[in-house]
Amino acid sequence: MDAEEYRKAAYASVDYIIEHFKTMDERKVVADVEPGYLRKLLPTEMPVEPEKFEDVHKDFDSKIVPGLTNWHSPNFLAFFPSNTSYPSMLGELYSSAFSAPGFNWICSPAMTELETIVLDWLAKQMALPKCFLSDGEGMGIIQGSASEAVITCMVAARDRYLRDAVASKYETEEEKEEAIANARGKLVAFASDQTHSATHKAALIAGVRFIAIPTSADDEFALTGEKLETALSSAEAKGLLPFFLTASMGTTAVVAIDRFGEIAKVSESRPHMWKHIDAAYAGAALICPEHQDMLDGVGDSYDSFDMNMHKWLLVNFDASCMYVRRRRDLADALSVMPPYLRNSVSDAGLVVDFRDYQLPLGRRFRALKIWFVMRAYGAKGLQAHIRKTRDIGQLFTTRVQERPDLFAIIARPRLGLTVLQVLAPEGSATTTNDLTKKVAARIEKEGHLYLTSSTVHGSYAMRVVTGSPWATEEAMEAAYKYIENVAEEERA
Ligand code: PLP
Repeated sequence: MDAEEYRKAAYASVDYIIEHFKTMDERKVVADVEPGYLRKLLPTEMPVEPEKFEDVHKDFDSKIVPGLTNWHSPNFLAFFPSNTSYPSMLGELYSSAFSAPGFNWICSPAMTELETIVLDWLAKQMALPKCFLSDGEGMGIIQGSASEAVITCMVAARDRYLRDAVASKYETEEEKEEAIANARGKLVAFASDQTHSATHKAALIAGVRFIAIPTSADDEFALTGEKLETALSSAEAKGLLPFFLTASMGTTAVVAIDRFGEIAKVSESRPHMWKHIDAAYAGAALICPEHQDMLDGVGDSYDSFDMNMHKWLLVNFDASCMYVRRRRDLADALSVMPPYLRNSVSDAGLVVDFRDYQLPLGRRFRALKIWFVMRAYGAKGLQAHIRKTRDIGQLFTTRVQERPDLFAIIARPRLGLTVLQVLAPEGSATTTNDLTKKVAARIEKEGHLYLTSSTVHGSYAMRVVTGSPWATEEAMEAAYKYIENVAEEERA
């Protein structure tokens, strides 16, 4: 493809994208294809001869797009949103054009510097504790996902614990090594039973134990100080070494918020235990002052915090914004310096090289799309997006609350998420769990809406949440009516 062909194809692609979003309502929200559909449509070998982009695009339109789930549709009410926006797409376009793996500052100075600047802007706008800003010992860095953020922090936490809480008690290198080897098998990471599975997975990867702590039995599903104390003391009594805890600001199933103040208090007597906050979804709402009370009790004792702009803050995947209180903790665990990566600015300690603060070496220029989005929307525009979509979600909650005879809401509704069951009539042979499952299965089969279900403390429930910039009140009203209809018919 030469420059002129690129110009033509790029203009046509932009037109295609605009048309796609304009006509989103005309397509089903879930791809209407059978497993393995694509293998039947594409050749078994790669092309030998070059092909015209028009031909490739024709196949993209007829074979690939029908297999894409319509995540931005107003009828997509599943998981959490996966936002995109035009400024974000443009940032991604430039980032791909100037493709460079910015692992060291010198690789493309603007990549590192812009990332530090936009993450500081974001931290200030979210009112995060000042310890996470880059003008002190802290720092923000973009990771690929919230899962990557947890494993990165856990590796740093493991090394810090082994060094500061274990090896520091010994004199000789031999004694230190022996003590570290003995301690490794006793390390344990904690999270609540509602925490996203990313923490459990990180523990598997890091080769440490994992303990899930039961959450409160009310509709808050929060990790409390009391439950944490019980879990930590019981592990310690068995000789285990608690070195890491994930506290959640907005869990996946119900958007539960853990009791950060109580957790911090309990942790005071365990100064070497790393405390991470997973705010993957809910963190976006901190952009609005009225939601900043979610930070109550966080103070400056938490070691790390992570939120995904790519969920609910108009930046396309991936843009997971991770902050640490002491950037040195990451570098101590993750920095290696082979001769081929050395350079004079790094050697002089004048710059931050992001490779020292993440698992991979190479990294994409993700700060650009964040900067484009921040400039195009401003804080006011981002707040308007959060408020609009939160309120559309709240509209659904209100409708459900108006039918206490038909529905039960099992978790406190938060940030646009409703977690509901369809109530089985009194004296009926079927249970509320089974009826809810039946309703969810029919909704999935009919494919007008896409929503996800979850089992919370034994209750099977449907989750309804939006967050798409293309969400509308009308579509949410229609979604409610449809769910109400299905629930009534299945209950009859
Ligand atoms: N944490 C929470 C609360 C989530 O809801 C999710 C995903 O939805 C994750 C972590 C994992 O996110 P990621 O896909 O960025 O790893």
